Amino acid sequence: MTGFQVLLVAGTHGNEINAPWLFDQWSRQPELIKTNQIRVCRVLGNPQALQAGKRYLDCDLNRSFASEYLLSSSSQDYEVHRARELLALHGQEGSSPCQLVIDLHSTTSSMGSSLVVYGRRASDLGLASLIQAQLGIPIYLYEGDQTQKGFLVESWPCGVVIEIGPVPQSLLLARIIDQTILTLEACFKQIARIKSRTIDFPSQLIVHSHIGSLDFPRDTNGNIKYCIHPSLQGQDWKPIQKGAPLFISSIGDTIYYENDETIIPVFINEAAYIEKHIAMSFTKKEVLPVLDEWKDSLDLLINQD
Ligand SMILES: [Zn+2]
Repeated sequence: MTGFQVLLVAGTHGNEINAPWLFDQWSRQPELIKTNQIRVCRVLGNPQALQAGKRYLDCDLNRSFASEYLLSSSSQDYEVHRARELLALHGQEGSSPCQLVIDLHSTTSSMGSSLVVYGRRASDLGLASLIQAQLGIPIYLYEGDQTQKGFLVESWPCGVVIEIGPVPQSLLLARIIDQTILTLEACFKQIARIKSRTIDFPSQLIVHSHIGSLDFPRDTNGNIKYCIHPSLQGQDWKPIQKGAPLFISSIGDTIYYENDETIIPVFINEAAYIEKHIAMSFTKKEVLPVLDEWKDSLDLLINQD
């Protein structure tokens, strides 16, 4: 038993370079980020992809933590090997075990500073409620999509993704660095308050829960025929109603949203999702009461030593 440690992962995607750069600066200036005496392990998720300036070498590391990949000895993919390595180092049974993971990402979409939570684990929702109470940031609750699984944070007892944008792939931007520091420090502050048992949970958590994703309209060869409509570009987290323009063609032909249900788009025009056939995802807003179960699971996890 080594006690409670937070695992911080940067560069899970090798073309998201702001968090890895921040780690580098932080190692030279330990006072750069206030950790409130929380013990932290910092790792680069996908160092080889980072070196190559690519999102990944063989497959997406943030889809490589599914048990069928981890248990199968046949996979030769570098990212599956790396997923096993990260678990051997910092998983629950690892040589330097961490109980909570924060996975730092950036996006080409205008997501601002936001959190992504996978499913409705008590510990994740509890942590998200505290960070939202401090910073007021939106939370994308990703669930119920069998085509996308094997996310890194799901392999630890508690974990969230910090997703910040917009920033082009492989570009350093001071604003993104500042937002990452601010969000990280909020995480540490809240974790420290749980540790010192001085925490005060909010009464509710607002999430944007995943409904589904929409691909670009394509021709029979799979080529994209329409791009995101200019009035939708950059409008992540803003509700759209029936009649809202979604896509536009080169000759101005427009495709509109046609359902009656008001929805809230996220990850609009994320460059990395083109290969996943996702032009945007749709969510609905939900207000969840903060449950005692969430508080208890976090307390148990963080105050185990
Ligand atoms: Zn990413």
